[in-house]
Amino acid sequence: MRFGGPVALIDLAALGHNLEVARRRAPRSRLWAVIKADAYGHGMEQAAVALAAADGFAVARVEEALRLRAAGVEHPILVLNGALSAEETAAAWEARLDLAVHQAAQADWLAALPRSAAVAGHPLRVWLKVDTGMHRLGLEPAEVPLVQTWLTDYPVVAPDPGLMTHLANADEPADPLTMLQCQRLRALARPGQALNIGNSAGILACPAARVDWVRPGIMLYGVSPFGDHGAAALDLRPVMTLKTQVSATHVYRAGERIGYGGTFVCPEDMPVGVAAIGYGDGYPRHAPTGTPVLVKGQRVPLIGRVSMDSITLDLRPCPEARPGDEVILWGRALPVEEISRAAGTISYDLLCGVSPRVRRESVHSPEPS
Ligand SMILES: *Cc1c(COP(=O)(O)O)cnc(C)c1O
Repeated sequence: MRFGGPVALIDLAALGHNLEVARRRAPRSRLWAVIKADAYGHGMEQAAVALAAADGFAVARVEEALRLRAAGVEHPILVLNGALSAEETAAAWEARLDLAVHQAAQADWLAALPRSAAVAGHPLRVWLKVDTGMHRLGLEPAEVPLVQTWLTDYPVVAPDPGLMTHLANADEPADPLTMLQCQRLRALARPGQALNIGNSAGILACPAARVDWVRPGIMLYGVSPFGDHGAAALDLRPVMTLKTQVSATHVYRAGERIGYGGTFVCPEDMPVGVAAIGYGDGYPRHAPTGTPVLVKGQRVPLIGRVSMDSITLDLRPCPEARPGDEVILWGRALPVEEISRAAGTISYDLLCGVSPRVRRESVHSPEPS
């Protein structure tokens, strides 16, 4: 049977289109398509298929990378946060992953790999992750030569590890830190050593971040990394449309209060709709009264508190709405950027937060004319 309720439509053609946009913006770079966190909520395995033209995939953790290998993905896979134990390091070697190394402990785990691994052939590719100003994960620049020397002695590690860094403020193109971070990484590089820098914002706004390898994430999903200009201006096509149905309609009298806490008071006799989606599906609980929702293509304001399975809507702009009518929470016609702003968060948070209860259905939309 066909169940009602929330569905996330995933436009696989849009994923491919957005990858091409990233290629055009960084034409001399190789691309790691970042598909961590279940491809930002879009479904990791199917995203890998739709993004097969990437040069490799990047995920945060070894466990995610092994899931991709289990799904038959043979591309290079970079583990951005590196291994979390000796056991994961050994598993990464076996699965031919590329590992970031940002801590001496991770180098120790590499040193502990059995020598038989080296004899067995395929060396493990390592990326030294350097802290050039973000102060989250990364070796101090001064530590890099030493760690590099250690790695040279490990027979299991491929020679000439690359250098990577992550940009802290690239979504603020005027911030001079981005250029400084790129320069700090470049200053550490030996001739010919591969560099790996740009995230989406770096690729779009900072030429110095378009080095040998770049790591686009959010832009692949058709979402702008910038606060001030939207995806359309960047030629990005939103990949996810989150939709559901109207589950009930009512008419309430002036002065009646709606939902938990009764925070919305009807200013007049008015039609009120309920839609089958809530924070249990990943719709943001903090979306305030006034957050836009599309009912039958018409913008209506959310009213009252978001509950676990339902939201309530002011149907005055769309009084003819009836149970079963389509409700869109975000997508091409209603940018997720607008909803995240209303809810006081970022689009990454909303996309990653779509819960497993929400069915994912893949579609291939034609290019808009
Ligand atoms: C998540 C992540 C990215 C991708 O960032 P976007 O802003 O989504 O493009 C790139 N590099 C690292 C290290 C990351 O953790």
